[in-house]
Amino acid sequence: MTQNTSHATAKRLPNFCAGPATMPTEVLERAQADLLDWQGRGLSVMEMSHRSADYVDIAERAEAKLRQLMNIPNNYKVLFLQGGASLQFSAIPLNLLGGGTADYLNTGAWSGKATKEAQRYEALGLGKINVVASGKASNFTDVPDIKDWTLSDNAAYFHYCANETIHGLQIFQPPQVGAPLVADMSSCILSQPIDVSQFGMIYAGAQKNIGPAGLVIIIIREDLVDKASEWCPMLLNYAHQIDKESMSNTPATYSWYLAGLVFDWLEEQGGVEAIGKINEQKAKLLYDAIDNSSFYANPVANAHRSIMNIPFTLADSALDKVFLQASEQAGLLNLKGHRDVGGMRASIYNAVSLDWVSQLVDFMQEFERKHG
Ligand SMILES: *Cc1c(COP(=O)(O)O)cnc(C)c1O
Repeated sequence: MTQNTSHATAKRLPNFCAGPATMPTEVLERAQADLLDWQGRGLSVMEMSHRSADYVDIAERAEAKLRQLMNIPNNYKVLFLQGGASLQFSAIPLNLLGGGTADYLNTGAWSGKATKEAQRYEALGLGKINVVASGKASNFTDVPDIKDWTLSDNAAYFHYCANETIHGLQIFQPPQVGAPLVADMSSCILSQPIDVSQFGMIYAGAQKNIGPAGLVIIIIREDLVDKASEWCPMLLNYAHQIDKESMSNTPATYSWYLAGLVFDWLEEQGGVEAIGKINEQKAKLLYDAIDNSSFYANPVANAHRSIMNIPFTLADSALDKVFLQASEQAGLLNLKGHRDVGGMRASIYNAVSLDWVSQLVDFMQEFERKHG
């Protein structure tokens, strides 16, 4: 093989994939430079023992950088585990239910799946799962009014999904319900500033805004971790994983390393507040393009329109295929909507630039001129 790996020739197309999502090019370049020989040690990060001093340093730096970016208080623990966000749907009730009742808000596909998993433990007698409200009546285009939620007294926790990736529905303010909030932030973590101290637990699969798949990050208030059921598998037990510093077994070492590089990159962009402003601009550009045309539409209630995942439909759905073919030909990747919702979806995570979004908007306007 010749050494023709120059980045100058690498083609990087605008990628709007919902997940695994596009990574910052600078991060991939850094990883490429380090791939064969990390910092002159003569081996790749993926070939290191997770117990080695070098790797432990990589892991600790990633955590420290995340703590700094999110301003995570000292009484919160951070875990880097495997199994994606979905395995947490099972881990959460096993760790936090403690024989009590948990409240679940159903606002779409992901919170629905989390609820279903939790309900398995109700069937086993480990506690009760109470669905406080469902957005199904609105086809998950709106969040039911908090006045209509049937909250339990003394819930062990309140679970919700802060950003429904499939439906493009976001809950921007943490619900004020009393119980410790457990939030699935897989598709919105690090996209804008949040106050971690308002949450009991935050979790996020990595492959949207953090890094490659194979990693889930958990941020949990330390007083919540002592209630695990005796049935909780060791690898899912938060207290155990805290004790083992996420290394009860071999962690997803390379994904963890790449997550650290993404955190460094985010800091170089000015941190979460700075990227949050860009994210708002990107979302506004795209929503304005949709709203200012009668050719495109987005059904989500204004107050809950996601700034990360923007589904849209065409006035004539017979044109969907044409749109997807033409956009791909124009070098705009992965705009097909989720099969549950149909139409198109643009996921515009941190690593999707404002320039990519304006290329998409230009394409949409051109397409409308041709076919509208
Ligand atoms: C992608 C996603 C998940 C599932 O993540 P996995 O890592 O595939 O388990 C869960 N919740 C939300 C909000 C997501 O966007």
